[in-house]
Amino acid sequence: MRIDFITTFPEMFAPVQTSIVGKALERGLVEIRFFNPRDFSKDPHRKTDDTQYGGSEGLVMAAPPLIEAVEAARSGNPAGGDRLILLSPQGKVLNQAQAKELAQCAHLILVCGHYKGVDERFIDLLQPEEISIGDFVLTGGELPAMVVADAVIRLLPNVVGGYASVEEDSHYEGLLDCPRYTRPRVVRELEVPQVLLSGNHAKIEAWRKRMALEATRRKRPDLLDRYAQGS
Ligand code: SAM
Repeated sequence: MRIDFITTFPEMFAPVQTSIVGKALERGLVEIRFFNPRDFSKDPHRKTDDTQYGGSEGLVMAAPPLIEAVEAARSGNPAGGDRLILLSPQGKVLNQAQAKELAQCAHLILVCGHYKGVDERFIDLLQPEEISIGDFVLTGGELPAMVVADAVIRLLPNVVGGYASVEEDSHYEGLLDCPRYTRPRVVRELEVPQVLLSGNHAKIEAWRKRMALEATRRKRPDLLDRYAQGS
């Protein structure tokens, strides 16, 4: 998979070059590239934003450098060979089902807005899919783009240890994950549940399923309703 970030702040992207995702890059399981709209600006100072028509506070990212940056990311691609995504608090809120679906794509282009957002004509002309990471507003699309990239990359084959590991995580099958424990066996008098020491895999599996249902019922009963309806 290839992921292109359209951003005026490529220096913010250290997190997607670190840890498990960083290893996936090193191993060639995913390729990431950066396209900076400043490189496509006609302004002598490489400006990519401007004041608003109609007045009001806050700068708006100009459409032409953003469009050209997307075109550069697309160059050489077959038409329709990518998913163009604008990170936006107005988009559909990201969930695990959508991350799974995006993980099937060969090429994602993630466009990061900043300031008051992007000129509406960028959206009218290129018709990106809009994705939000929640009903709150951040200063820019860089953190949301990294959130989307991380959620997708960890689902690619061979990125996370055994694939079973991601399938057991919260939201993959609609439930929350069960409690997890590691050494030491006793922490301030709290013991690891005995069943996990039993070596009986069938019993451990049954316990984990029960605890996942219990965690979901307690913390996110809304998910349990949906899980029960099989959606
Ligand atoms: N004026 C815009 C609005 O109210 O819809 C908000 C602009 S926001 C300050 C600047 C940029 O941050 C957005 O263009 C978007 O790329 C990004 N952004 C902010 N919050 C986000 C969220 N919850 N999900 C995805 N992107 C977000």
